[in-house]
Amino acid sequence: MAKSPVEEHPVKAFGWAAKDSSGVLSPFNFSRRATGDEDVQFKVLYCGICHTDLHNVKNEWGFSQYPVVPGHEIVGVVTEVGKKVHKFKVGDKVGVGCLVGSCRSCGSCEKDLENYCPKLMMTYGSVYYDGTTTYGGYSDIMVSNEHFVVRIPDNLPLDATAPLLCAGITTYSPLKHFGLDKPGMHIGVVGLGGLGHVAVKFAKAFGAKVTVISTSPNKKDEALAHLGADSFLISNDQDQMQAAMGTLDGILDTVSAVHALYPLIGLLKCDGKLILLGVPDKPLDLPVFPLLAGRKIVAGSGIGGMKETQEMIDFAAKHNIRAEIEVIPVDYLNTAMERLAKNDVKYRFVIDVGNTMNHS
Ligand SMILES: [Zn+2]
Ligand SMILES: [Zn+2]
Repeated sequence: MAKSPVEEHPVKAFGWAAKDSSGVLSPFNFSRRATGDEDVQFKVLYCGICHTDLHNVKNEWGFSQYPVVPGHEIVGVVTEVGKKVHKFKVGDKVGVGCLVGSCRSCGSCEKDLENYCPKLMMTYGSVYYDGTTTYGGYSDIMVSNEHFVVRIPDNLPLDATAPLLCAGITTYSPLKHFGLDKPGMHIGVVGLGGLGHVAVKFAKAFGAKVTVISTSPNKKDEALAHLGADSFLISNDQDQMQAAMGTLDGILDTVSAVHALYPLIGLLKCDGKLILLGVPDKPLDLPVFPLLAGRKIVAGSGIGGMKETQEMIDFAAKHNIRAEIEVIPVDYLNTAMERLAKNDVKYRFVIDVGNTMNHS
């Protein structure tokens, strides 16, 4: 019989887990593996709450295995390193994002695109090499192979950096890959939530003119005054959308609800690119004629590889980019999840794990 989560490994760990599809999180005793030769063990200080966490605790994608300890925007301080670890030492500030493993030998892994490895292992809810389930960052201690650990530069605040490990790389990677990182370009960002607000900051740091496209007129002031966007389009205002036709080099679409692509494709210049980052639960209609009429591209992109994740963090340090966050104590977690479901957060909840997650 399989060992219980408390007994399967030697290192005691404590976190908060969902035990069933109600998604309600509660205290959970479990264990972490002993630090292997290539492993980094760290004390978790902060963990961001991603929309993916909400989908997983409620089993909305149908593959959750309970108990689920969510969290893939994890930062902390190194407490132990294995004897073959050379990139990190005790006391270093580090982070782990969405991945903790990949095959390291396929075509994607050879190109530093572990995120597209067919055998990738997610930070929580995957079965690790030793046969045990991976548990995420809503917990006091973390251990990961050093390849999947990133260094956090000293000038970045740990709490506001945590969300970059998922939301940051998810927006940075497509801007780079699709050539939307050139100064003077005009970039659209659809949806101003956890992903969208950091997309605005990265695009601005690359030197782009940024237009936020949203259904919520009440986000306009904040987008322009606080996040640094240059203009704002209300997506259901026909006149505004008509006037902006053919003006954008690229669009990052962060919306995960079902929505119309036709008006967004219309905003693109010839050769413009619409990159989908959200995951609607039903297929979207793809109008083909407007694509042909301007040689436009519709594509998708998911997180990023480890090399690029480190590059993104270093870029954020250089350009002073951080997520806008609301830091919460762990006992506020279920309320935070309810608020997240209603998009009632500016723009990311971050759990103060270090100060508020105590063994029961
Ligand atoms: Zn995420
Ligand atoms: Zn691979």
